[in-house]
Amino acid sequence: MSPRVMIVEDEEALSLLLRYNLEAEGYSVETVERGDDAETRLQETVPDLLLLDWMLPGISGIELCRRLRARDATRGLPIVMLTARGEEQEKIRGLATGADDYVVKPFSVPELLARLRAILRRTRPEVIATLLRAGDIELDRETHRVRRGGRELHLGPTEFRLLEFLMRSPGRVFSREQLLDGVWGRDVYVDERTVDVHIGRLRKAVNRGRARDPIRTVRGAGYAFDDQFAA
Ligand code: CA
Repeated sequence: MSPRVMIVEDEEALSLLLRYNLEAEGYSVETVERGDDAETRLQETVPDLLLLDWMLPGISGIELCRRLRARDATRGLPIVMLTARGEEQEKIRGLATGADDYVVKPFSVPELLARLRAILRRTRPEVIATLLRAGDIELDRETHRVRRGGRELHLGPTEFRLLEFLMRSPGRVFSREQLLDGVWGRDVYVDERTVDVHIGRLRKAVNRGRARDPIRTVRGAGYAFDDQFAA
């Protein structure tokens, strides 16, 4: 079951970026540009989580939030507000209006995804898978533990996120740039060779004394979690 997220955001580039990253994370995503259109749409269907921009055409995010909290069908809907810098002082008003959390733009996508997961774990635990499994590898997203053949592996935080990112989409080849965006975040400027260094460390930790390497290097393209690995 994939968690359903509705994004209400009038900045097209940001909306696309969020859609891309949320879909890669396994969410099913619907985007709406106007506050009034979102209100209409939410009368037809209620997602598992709402990502709501503060400043919107139609009605503002804060007003929509207030209206949603007044309706039975959406009173418990988890809402994360997106606010521009300078609106931070308004955060208390936002939370008082009933938002569950808020994120200040520009934000790091991995951090936003982590917050969404935390909220969904609390509010809709049934839609969030905490264990990723492939072959003899088991990754627990909640405790940040990784086991292979029942034995615990010791990964650094970046190697953990890299493995988690790859394991979420077995078989899919990610370029170094996509891995930088998804694992390090868009606002972080690191050299693409950094990816190779961390893939090397990840392999060392995961493959210690074992022949089967779950990570495929695809020449000229990037890296993938081998979808034959579990077979
Ligand atoms: Ca806006």
